[in-house]
Amino acid sequence: MNIIDFHAHLDDRWLGTPLPSCTAFLAGMDMCGVQSACVFSVMGLYEDCPGANDRLLAAVQAAPERLYPFAVADPKQGAAGVEEVARCLANPLFRGVKMHPWLQAFAPAMVKESTVAIARCAASHGVPVVLHDGTPPYATTFQAAALARWVPEATIIAGHAGLSDYVHAAGRLARELANLHLCFCGPKAGELGYLIEAAGVEKVLFGSDFGAATWPILAERIDAVTAASLGAEALAAVLYGNAARLLATRCP
Ligand SMILES: [Zn+2]
Repeated sequence: MNIIDFHAHLDDRWLGTPLPSCTAFLAGMDMCGVQSACVFSVMGLYEDCPGANDRLLAAVQAAPERLYPFAVADPKQGAAGVEEVARCLANPLFRGVKMHPWLQAFAPAMVKESTVAIARCAASHGVPVVLHDGTPPYATTFQAAALARWVPEATIIAGHAGLSDYVHAAGRLARELANLHLCFCGPKAGELGYLIEAAGVEKVLFGSDFGAATWPILAERIDAVTAASLGAEALAAVLYGNAARLLATRCP
């Protein structure tokens, strides 16, 4: 079974807590049968964002064929935030953009101009934008969906598929918006069937948040997918095929 983890973290620490090293991260992937992972910085969400993007790029050199770095973007920086995304995406190793409106403390509508410009920049490079979703006040799934509505040419991914309170809304929003996809990272096994039925099987991808926690979270979140009694085709699409398709649109 091939697996791509579309939502993982690789960084030195979360505030004061050390995070798994790159070696431990790759060992966890091996243990759980994960072929590759989209990795995001954590510290870049609350301190030096360009420095964190550079550190992430250096870290993935350990296994560039398995670790796909996403650049953290900060729309509160205005034009400088957009330029930082353009700087990162000029390097073909970067495979996407990550924003975390909750941790970064911005409502997309509050900094609409730069948020839209960042999404347009990602679209021009053919890479997806992952937004943390599921936590008010800044990061409801409706706010992630708003960006998909504002920039229809961008591929927007709700990074937690509604997480808990917004799972129902996530399914409906992804059905409505052709460019909104859902990363199944956090909702319960019993909710996967609903998300696939509501949004369409091609809209749902697996993610774990591994790296923000140690390897058991990866095992548990794979279990949440395999416990959902999907058919073989749907299971392969969620664990691998949909992610592979979204990652293949990167312009050289
Ligand atoms: Zn995360």
